[in-house]
Amino acid sequence: MARRKKLYEGKAKILYEGPEPGTLVQYFKDDATAFNAEKKATIEGKGVLNNRLSEFFMNGLNQIGVPTHFIKRINMREQLIKSVEIIPLEVIVRNFAAGSMAKRLGLEEGTPLPRPIIEFSYKDDALGDPLVPEEYIIAFGWASQQDLDDIVALALRVNDYMSGVMYGVGIKLVDFKIEIGRIWEGDFMRLVVADEISPDSCRLWDIKTGQKLDKDVFRRDLGNLTDAYTEVARRLGVMPSNVTHATKPTLIN
Ligand code: UDP
Repeated sequence: MARRKKLYEGKAKILYEGPEPGTLVQYFKDDATAFNAEKKATIEGKGVLNNRLSEFFMNGLNQIGVPTHFIKRINMREQLIKSVEIIPLEVIVRNFAAGSMAKRLGLEEGTPLPRPIIEFSYKDDALGDPLVPEEYIIAFGWASQQDLDDIVALALRVNDYMSGVMYGVGIKLVDFKIEIGRIWEGDFMRLVVADEISPDSCRLWDIKTGQKLDKDVFRRDLGNLTDAYTEVARRLGVMPSNVTHATKPTLIN
């Protein structure tokens, strides 16, 4: 990897200065965390898979006219992205009850919801990313009402795209999280899908068997996480299944 200036290191990714103004390089680590980083592990190959999967989803979104920060993949672990100002919210879209919602409402995991439900958490690790109502978001100035309307529209388009793509390979999209960034073009501000879209931030269940193919495999000790993500990548045709376990660097195009 070139000696680039590191700008930010998060739990699963590192951001480096990009080659041109307005760009960044996003590096995918093999680190996995859950329960607000109480549970941690290094999972060989996860970063490579998430880089490829996020490229696949973001490219698809760009092509159907949903703007994202993604420009291009650079290598196995890095992608070139547009520099954005991240809105400090986790935008969660749910099609079926699971995880924290199932717990909060006493619903059985997998219960279909009457319509896609969108909720927001305030991005703050020290506070454990608390769920926040829209009124907090507007009152504290994290986003305006207009931003929120646009974010909901974006999130629903991402949901329809992701649900359809996943359905096509026999996977149910239970829920997912996205982050939204602002890009300034002169005085004009545009909201784009940022961060990553990968099995780290989605719940993906095999339609026939219900097998979990997402980070719950790690959270709940259900097996090998790399195998689960490799299965998603294999079904989508985005990656040969043997690459992640390679001991030497392997060239992929
Ligand atoms: N999620 C995420 N990052 C977070 C919290 C949630 O990517 O910090 C994703 C999670 O993988 C799931 C969806 O958002 O696909 C809904 O998560 P939930 O609120 O049920 O929380 P969890 O049960 O994961 O704590």
